[in-house]
Amino acid sequence: MSQYKAPLRDIRFALYDVLGAEALFTELGFEDAGRETVDAVLDESARFCETVLAPLNAVGDEQGVRHDKATGDVTTPAGFKAAYEQFTEGGWGGLGAPVEYGGLGLPHVLGMPLEEMIDAANLAWGNFPLLSHGAANALRLHGEDWQREVFLTRLVSGEWTGTMCLTEPHCGTDLGLLKTKAEPNADGTHSITGTKIFITAGEHDFTPNILHLVLARLPDAPAGSKGISLFIVPKFKVARDGTMGERNPLQCGAVEHKMGIHGSATCVMNFDGAQGYLIGQPHKGLMAMFTMMNTARLGVGIQGLGLADRAYQNALRYARERLQSRALSGAKFPDKPADPIIVQPDVRRMLLTCKALTEGGRALAYHAGLQIDIADHGASDEARKQADDLVGFLTPIVKACLTEWGVECTYHAQQCFGGHGYIREHGMEQLARDARITTLYEGTTGIQALDLVGRKVMQLQGAGLKVFLGLVESFVAEHAGDASLAEFIGPLREKAGEWQALTLEIGKRAAKDPEEIGAAAYDYLFYSGYVALAYWWARSVAAADASSQSQAFKDAKRETARFYFARILPRTLTHKAAIASGPAPLLSLDEASFDA
Ligand SMILES: Cc1cc2nc3c(=O)[nH]c(=O)nc-3n(C[C@H](O)[C@H](O)[C@H](O)COP(=O)(O)OP(=O)(O)OC[C@H]3O[C@@H](n4cnc5c(N)ncnc54)[C@H](O)[C@@H]3O)c2cc1C
Repeated sequence: MSQYKAPLRDIRFALYDVLGAEALFTELGFEDAGRETVDAVLDESARFCETVLAPLNAVGDEQGVRHDKATGDVTTPAGFKAAYEQFTEGGWGGLGAPVEYGGLGLPHVLGMPLEEMIDAANLAWGNFPLLSHGAANALRLHGEDWQREVFLTRLVSGEWTGTMCLTEPHCGTDLGLLKTKAEPNADGTHSITGTKIFITAGEHDFTPNILHLVLARLPDAPAGSKGISLFIVPKFKVARDGTMGERNPLQCGAVEHKMGIHGSATCVMNFDGAQGYLIGQPHKGLMAMFTMMNTARLGVGIQGLGLADRAYQNALRYARERLQSRALSGAKFPDKPADPIIVQPDVRRMLLTCKALTEGGRALAYHAGLQIDIADHGASDEARKQADDLVGFLTPIVKACLTEWGVECTYHAQQCFGGHGYIREHGMEQLARDARITTLYEGTTGIQALDLVGRKVMQLQGAGLKVFLGLVESFVAEHAGDASLAEFIGPLREKAGEWQALTLEIGKRAAKDPEEIGAAAYDYLFYSGYVALAYWWARSVAAADASSQSQAFKDAKRETARFYFARILPRTLTHKAAIASGPAPLLSLDEASFDA
């Protein structure tokens, strides 16, 4: 079985030393988020994830969820429900939620290490509370007062869980095609009818009620995505005074059998005239749902990070223990029958790739999460707006890059185990299988790429990119004369300039040919991700040098940064060349000739 130890030292390093979270929390008015409290939260999260959730990871994979066709009930794997009870007793679900709704009122960014540890320990379990956060956010921003009072408080306490019901059999990415209907009733409620598929945590045995946030069309709705409204549809009807009534006519028709996350209930949900309440304005549901999706997208990025980290930890342990062959330059451990495989450059390539992508990715993701706190609590309108632009820009990068890197790292880590990585008992194949979904749900990698280029860069005139480049520029200027950082500052300056030029070039070409956007999107997204990570690696070295961390820690950061700049950052060259080639190599082959 794969093991898990929460990487508290690096989490604290990212929060305190790299991001300066302690001072920022004070600046933003989080009086209860002093270092002692934050440390206690991190320690307790680690304990819960290591001792309660991690041991259930293989159990969930083996048992999966069980569906009763007659009743529609879903039974979760042994131990999952009890773990959820501990989770809610600890108030973990409401960590970053406002105190007025029963939350702890701590900074949003503190939820990220918690989610990272949960996902690393047990991704399938983590999916049950995940969507409650998104549902809570949608209600907080778009719900009516009574809806917040009745539903939001219960999501925050974890008494009930939430879902996100978008996907239908004929539409996933293109929600403008959805058919689920909402008929108005005389009492102001609506009757929801339709089938949703792939609904995470659509049915389970954790809580007495489940709140489905459902996208549906009103009778007078315009066609396409401008005619979609959002409804809250509880499993058991709920009156406006909060009392729970009879069963709503909705049921889980089946659970999907999947490649990974077997312990997560992925449900077909049938709504048969179920009573629902409109959230927000009619026909503006997609906007409200985007609030939910953005929170969830950062959360899914964190899933990739958690899995990459767990996979790396196990590969590292194995590479130190596994004795095979000798180092090419002669025996490094002559007293042993063979050297451990960690002496081999190729094994180090895989380990260092995981280490570089994981630790750099952690700083990148936490920085994005911090922007949500600044956007909510920043001192000036300008600071709040900049943070909002930045988090919008970084969300598709975090979601897509961290999940694709999660897939890459679980692959490398499995490879470090040789054939043993393919065998179930080591748990490495589960990590690789579980990681695969993260690049697909909450919008595929291709869709994140289009969101980045089409919306965040072209439509919004690169507002978020400008803020990020401003950060890079200040850092580069601040350390211009710093000889110890020169090896990173020069290439970073060069890449930042190239990034800007590349963006302008795509914009110019897209003005003439709209296909340019789609052709450049994937490569532009990864180009952006790798340059952003170069910035975080340079900053990590600077932060480590300035910190009270051990010399070994500082050296490890510097050497990993060197590896990143030498071996991973050059991937940008391929992406740049692909972008330069334009749409022709992708679109010239006639559709009918693909199998010619
Ligand atoms: C385990 C699991 C859990 C899920 N949980 C939920 C949930 O809780 N709630 C929910 O509503 N949904 C959920 N989903 C659905 C998930 O979000 C969708 O599967 C995903 O968004 C992709 O939609 P699709 O499967 O219909 O693929 P499609 O939209 O058919 O896409 C197929 C391929 O075409 C590409 N593509 C499509 N359109 C474009 C375009 N315009 N430009 C470029 N490429 C394009 C996609 O990137 C993809 O590679 C879940 C799915 C799974 C498997």
